[in-house]
Amino acid sequence: MEESKAANGLKAAPKAERRRGAGSAVQRALRMVDPGRWSLKGRFLYVTGALLILGNFILIGYLHVILEDNIARTAADRLHLLREVTTGEVRRMQDTLHAQALALAEVQPVQRALEEYDQAALRAFLVPYENKIRHGLRAASVEFRLSPADARGEGVDPVAERVGRERALVAGVRVEHGQPVVYTAVPVLAGSRVAGVVVALASLREALAGTILPPEYGLALVVPEGGDAPAPDQGLAVTATLGGAGRDLPAPQALRAHGVARKGQVYATLVELADSEGQPTAGVVVSYNASLLGQSKWNRINLFAWFFIGGALVLWFVLYANVTRIERFFNRLKKIIISSHSNYFGERFEADHLHCLDVMHCHNEECPVYQNPSLVCYLETGSEAISPRWRDTCIFLNKYDSCKACPVYAMRRGDELTEMRNVVNTKMRLWSNFLGRVGHLMAYVLRSQEHTGRMPSLDEISDRLEEMAKLTFFSRDLQGVLDKEEVHAQLGHVFADHFNLRRLMLYEVRADDGTVEVVLDTMPDQPLCREAVLRNVEACRACRTAEDVVSFYNPVLCPHFNCDQDKDVRCCLPMVMGGKVGGVATFLAPRREWEGLRKQLPILRKYLDEAAPVLSSLRLLMLSKEQALHDPLTRCHNRRFLDEFITTFEPLADRENRTTGLLMCDIDYFKQVNDEYGHEAGDAVLKQLVTIIQATIRKTDLLVRYGGEEFLALLQNVEPGTSERVAEKIRATVEQTALRLPGGTTIRKTVSVGVAEFPQDAPGMYKAIKFADVALYEAKRSGRNKVMRFAPGMWTEQEY
Ligand code: GH3
Ligand code: MG
Ligand code: MG
Repeated sequence: MEESKAANGLKAAPKAERRRGAGSAVQRALRMVDPGRWSLKGRFLYVTGALLILGNFILIGYLHVILEDNIARTAADRLHLLREVTTGEVRRMQDTLHAQALALAEVQPVQRALEEYDQAALRAFLVPYENKIRHGLRAASVEFRLSPADARGEGVDPVAERVGRERALVAGVRVEHGQPVVYTAVPVLAGSRVAGVVVALASLREALAGTILPPEYGLALVVPEGGDAPAPDQGLAVTATLGGAGRDLPAPQALRAHGVARKGQVYATLVELADSEGQPTAGVVVSYNASLLGQSKWNRINLFAWFFIGGALVLWFVLYANVTRIERFFNRLKKIIISSHSNYFGERFEADHLHCLDVMHCHNEECPVYQNPSLVCYLETGSEAISPRWRDTCIFLNKYDSCKACPVYAMRRGDELTEMRNVVNTKMRLWSNFLGRVGHLMAYVLRSQEHTGRMPSLDEISDRLEEMAKLTFFSRDLQGVLDKEEVHAQLGHVFADHFNLRRLMLYEVRADDGTVEVVLDTMPDQPLCREAVLRNVEACRACRTAEDVVSFYNPVLCPHFNCDQDKDVRCCLPMVMGGKVGGVATFLAPRREWEGLRKQLPILRKYLDEAAPVLSSLRLLMLSKEQALHDPLTRCHNRRFLDEFITTFEPLADRENRTTGLLMCDIDYFKQVNDEYGHEAGDAVLKQLVTIIQATIRKTDLLVRYGGEEFLALLQNVEPGTSERVAEKIRATVEQTALRLPGGTTIRKTVSVGVAEFPQDAPGMYKAIKFADVALYEAKRSGRNKVMRFAPGMWTEQEY
């Protein structure tokens, strides 16, 4: 029993699934017919596409009906014309036969011959008439029959007999030997007596065969199926076709019923021919093949239809492109708005459709949101809504019926009003943030477009938003920079990559001496500014006025532009730092691209505005660092710097086995300068000594103010034994230099230099410095104005 239940259960499961599947298919179908649920593409593309296809079909069908009607009318008109021609031709035959028969009947010898029934004479009279008519009617089988009035019995033409009896003239069409013939009968009178009858007959087929018809027209002779003596309502049989030969005609019976009948593209009508009594005896079917006419008209319609279909396709593709663009725009907008939030929830949501119910530890599979994560709106699941305070709160409240089955919902019921208030407040706050941001974005976009005097296009807004997103990333990237060089490099990258400006120079204004320093130059061999600007910041217009300087309208705006104004536009954008111009970004843009770049200038400026405070704070940081590690009077490094330097330098020099020269320089009798000329003079001497030493040593070498008037030169990577030469050079230069004092007087001083080398003289840097100092002491002791190389004898360990 249990087993069977289980088995039933197993069977029931797929059934239930099937039912659910069918249910979801129905739901899907219902969703499709509900316009409120259509997607953007569904609304604008699929519906439009379907309407266009339907429209095409309707139009082509309508054109088809019109065309058929038009062809039928044309065919009827043309058949009417041919019918008139055919009727006229038959009448003309009858008239010709009649005239000749009358002429023959009036010939006296004919009357006589008839009376005498002289067959030979009659024959002789008939031949020229037959020839004449044959020629006139273009018919080979023309025949005259003369019968005497008293001819009776078998073989006598009944028409002739009637004419002879009634003395009447008759004419008509009758069937002889299965072929329609036109005939006329005239009585031959001899005085008041009927001498005989002239019957003239001509084959209709031969007469009509001479009619030249265009290929689309055709004639067919028809006779009743019963032969020469048809019964009424008998069928018709075609005896001959002329023109349009072999054409598949509508059944002649159908022709009797309708004026114009049709078979395929062949239209036909029947011209009925009657005998002298007015009884229909034969007929001519005139036909017209409309396939050529139809073809040419269809060709034109086809052309039109293709144009229409082509136009519809183009329209559809334009729509497709635009809808795709709009969709992309909304997606981008969504991403930008999401990523502009400070928390990272948005990014997580983008990466893997984070489920709000997962966050709340709810796994209620019946929940529609659980089944379709796309129902989860970021605004509904913003970080605030899922903050720990409300972690167990279902923010959907009982939005969906199945929420009531949700355990989270059950938990929430205890304090429903509070929860509701919290959730609503959160939602409102998120909405207001969101709308505030959108408003901000739009205001920015519109402001940057003010000069164009028109609303920006969707594309432009989209581009602007993307630019702003890039700007946000740039600003975020700047947060982590270490020094100014990194900021300069980032700016260089942005200029080149986002704005395609590859000719760029950044310079920094030095606040202390009013000079400018080039900090980034993409082409240092062709400087953008002339030398004067680099020497004096006042020469730079952008620095002076703190305004953008653009050469597009006025190429001589700044006399220091160094570029080809015909080809390029020069642009200098000042960067304001701490209320003053702290730097300038200057670049060249090709003249033909200027219009596009001009519109981007506000964005470009934004990048500089983002970079300026970062540069400013880095500059302050560097300044304070420099002040901490430099001597303010001489700008040499101080002892603190030396200590930091040695910490990193010593192991490096040691590992690479490089020799470092240590020169300890001290001015001889420096105190006298102070005493004689004052401290200011002493300071001036110290500065000049530093200048001399710095000019002598290499840029990579280090000069440290070691004591009051004692300077230590640290020569990096020297050949062992060469330090003394440098020291001697310093000594000699000082000796030969007239030192200028503030009052204008000049004095001469000398220096003593103690020299030691690391690691040749000492295994440690500090010890080597000490030995240089010991050597200096020796130099002083042995008379001053000397260079003394340290020797081991100058030093005993006990002294240390
Ligand atoms: P010698 O080195 O030849 O033995 O004689 P000296 O006179 O140069 O030696 P001493 O060490 O006696 O004098 C050093 C003087 O340098 C004392 C001090 O007033 C002066 N001095 C130290 N620092 C400064 C400074 O920053 N500015 C000025 N003007 N003088 C300074
Ligand atoms: Mg001294
Ligand atoms: Mg001294």
